[in-house]
Amino acid sequence: MCRRWMLLVNNMNNRVNEYNDWSALKAVLDKSDLVFIFGAFIRGLHVMHHLEGHGYNVSFIDNDKNKQEGGYEDYEVNSVEFAIENSSENTVYLIPDNRHKQEMRKSLQELGIKYEKIIDVFKTLIPYKSLSLEVQIVEHCNLGCQNCNHFSPLAEKEFVSVEELKKDFQRISKLCEEQPLKRLYLLGGGATFAPKIRSNLRY
Ligand code: SF4
Repeated sequence: MCRRWMLLVNNMNNRVNEYNDWSALKAVLDKSDLVFIFGAFIRGLHVMHHLEGHGYNVSFIDNDKNKQEGGYEDYEVNSVEFAIENSSENTVYLIPDNRHKQEMRKSLQELGIKYEKIIDVFKTLIPYKSLSLEVQIVEHCNLGCQNCNHFSPLAEKEFVSVEELKKDFQRISKLCEEQPLKRLYLLGGGATFAPKIRSNLRY
């Protein structure tokens, strides 16, 4: 990745405060004896840290055998079956994943967990971030806007190659698997001077 890419993060802040959902969730957690987070991954970890900070007895469960054997980020990871064996009527299951929440909820219900004991915490506890990227595809510009404060009017004629852009796009799409991009801006200099701009955009 090079410096012509600029990541814009619009942090909408934790929705706990914004919608005041934390108090409703806390009321449920306060009545629970055990809390299982279904999904040992980055968002589950965020929920783990949040709940540990509030003193709850919380553990990870996951269907991934490698995580069950090796743990995740210094935490033990148990199977769903283990959780069920050790559950009581007051145990709750938290789902921190938005994309797969329906399948996760369904799989827990098929194993006998009651609907009301499975709680989707994505909107409540995961800070929502909307990501955008700016990429400068052309260095120079000849438009001569009066209030221009870019270096572009003085810059030598220079374009980013299609090959370089493709490589960057591939890398970006890997990095954004969990947090999709909302917007991608192609900028300059004079961005429309770029040759093959149409094929770049199609890519
Ligand atoms: S770089 Fe932007 S602001 Fe500057 S002259 Fe070109 S179009 Fe105008």
